[in-house]
Amino acid sequence: MHLLLHDGPTAADAPGPRTGGLPLVPAGFTWPHCDECGSPLKFIAHLPLDHGTAAVFLCDFDPGACSGWDADGGANRAYLFPPGTPLLPAPAPDDSDAPTLLPTATALHPATTPDGRPGVGRLGGTPDWIQDPETPTCPGCATPMAFAAELEDDTDLNFGDSGRGYLFTCRPCTRAAFLWQC
Ligand SMILES: [Zn+2]
Ligand SMILES: [Zn+2]
Repeated sequence: MHLLLHDGPTAADAPGPRTGGLPLVPAGFTWPHCDECGSPLKFIAHLPLDHGTAAVFLCDFDPGACSGWDADGGANRAYLFPPGTPLLPAPAPDDSDAPTLLPTATALHPATTPDGRPGVGRLGGTPDWIQDPETPTCPGCATPMAFAAELEDDTDLNFGDSGRGYLFTCRPCTRAAFLWQC
């Protein structure tokens, strides 16, 4: 288990763990849209994992209106790109109504112990649920997905009020899912 500590501004296409910036995606990737309101989703986190690279998107068209807290609601999207997949920064779609990027790209420093920098989340371990557990079921193989990472509400990330985002993956299916609680 690693803590993810706030490590200051970074490049939009930085390869390390970060919130904000641009998603690093495979060729042919299509920017996801919200199933509920149709707006392009906002890219919130790039998280390299030992079994692939995760990219997390969340609808922020009208905060609280679409069910981005729900792993199955279609108002968020999480991807797991297999290790070795060539990844390139994806340009954000131009949409004046829905923000598609966070205001800043923030590097997240994986650490085993706190060192005074604010914690933004963590990698691995077990989910620190705020509400009842909501481990998603993998749509590919119908088994519970494995917990991969957690992100805390902060100035750029909005998961309700002092909420927490949870990333899960299914390694065999190379799928990911995201939800949040507050
Ligand atoms: Zn939406
Ligand atoms: Zn699966």
